[in-house]
Amino acid sequence: MPAEVLQQAATEMLDWQGSGMSVMEMSHRGQEFGRILEAAEADLRELLAVPAHFRILFMQGGGLAENAIVPLNLSRGESVDFVVTGSWSRKSFKEAGRYCQARVAASNEADQHTSLPAPATWQLDGKARYVHLCSNETINGVEAHELPDLKALGSDAPLVIDFSSHVASRSVDWSRVGLAFGGAQKNLGPAGLTLVVVREDLLGHALEACPTAFNYQTVAENRSMYNTPPTFAIYMAGLTFQWLKRQTEGALRGVAAMEARNIAKAELLYGCIDQSAFYTNSVAPDCRSRMNVPFFLRDESRNDAFLAGAKAAGLLQLKGHKSVGGMRASIYNAMPIEGVQALVAYMREFEQQQA
Ligand code: PMP
Repeated sequence: MPAEVLQQAATEMLDWQGSGMSVMEMSHRGQEFGRILEAAEADLRELLAVPAHFRILFMQGGGLAENAIVPLNLSRGESVDFVVTGSWSRKSFKEAGRYCQARVAASNEADQHTSLPAPATWQLDGKARYVHLCSNETINGVEAHELPDLKALGSDAPLVIDFSSHVASRSVDWSRVGLAFGGAQKNLGPAGLTLVVVREDLLGHALEACPTAFNYQTVAENRSMYNTPPTFAIYMAGLTFQWLKRQTEGALRGVAAMEARNIAKAELLYGCIDQSAFYTNSVAPDCRSRMNVPFFLRDESRNDAFLAGAKAAGLLQLKGHKSVGGMRASIYNAMPIEGVQALVAYMREFEQQQA
C-alpha cells in the first residue's frame, strides 16, 4: 500500500469527510458509501481505460474463488482452454475441471515454468468457450508482456486473464480481453476485494448451479451491491486509485507512469542478478515479471544468512514461495525505486562479503 494512502485512511478513520462516521460504520446503501463506490468505479475505469462495453464488478472470494466463478459463468459446462504457465494457472485449470471440460492448450511445465509458450503454438479448441491465461504468474515470476490476439490465431473465444498480481502496473489491451479478474491485495488495496472486468456480451450465461451472489449478471445489475460489498476494502482501493491518478513520470501519468517506473525497477534488479555469478534467475528474459522477481543464490547454504542480513537492513519478505524456494522480491506499484536500489546495494554487499 502506498504510505500516502495509509496516512489518508488513518486521518479519515474515525470521521469520513465530516460524516461523523467511519467508512466501516456506514450503510452500504447510504449516500456516503454510494459516492465512494461510484468514484472508485469511475477512477478505475479511467485509470485502466476500460471501454464502456465492459462492466466493472467489485466482488469477494479472491482469485481462487474466481477460478470457480469464471467457469460457472462463462463455460456453459463445455470446453475451456487453459494456458498453464505456473502455479496459479495450474490451480485455475484444476478447479475449472469441476464445472466444465477443462483442457490444457499449452504449457511450460517441460521447462519448469521459465518461459511463455508462443501463442502460435497453442493447441486451441475451436469450440472452447474461453481461453484462460494468468498474465503474471506471481510465484514463478513469468509475465505475458503482450496479450495474445486470439482472433489472429483463428479463435473467436474470449480471453480470460488472471491479472491479480500485476493489475494497474501497466495498461491493458481490452480489444484482446473478454474478462479480467484479480484479487485487490497486490496493487489495488487490502485483501477482501476482488475485481472483475467483464465484456457485457459475456453476462447472462451462468450455469444453473452458479450461486446467485456470484452470477456476474446479478452483480452487474445490482452495481456490485446484490449482497453487502466489502465496503472498507473498496474505500481503500478507491484511495489507491486516486493515488495512482496523481502519479507522474516525466510526461506520463497514472498507469503509464507506473509502467515506466516498474520497467526501471525491474531492469535494475534483473541487471544486478544477471551481472552477478552469485545470484541467478532462469526465467526467459522476454517474459520476466516486473512485479515478482524470483532469484536464487547459487550456493543455497547461504540463504539464511542472506535473509537475516536483509531483514537487518529493513528489506523484508524476501523468502521465496515454499513451492519453489530461493528468494522472491515483490516490487509492486507501491514499492519506490529507492526500495529496489536498497535491495540491489544489499545484494552486492552480501556477495562481496561472501567472496
Ligand atoms: N492468482 C494469482 C496470480 C495470485 O497471485 C493469487 C494470490 N497470490 C491468486 C490467484 C489467489 O488469490 P486469492 O488468495 O486472493 O484467492
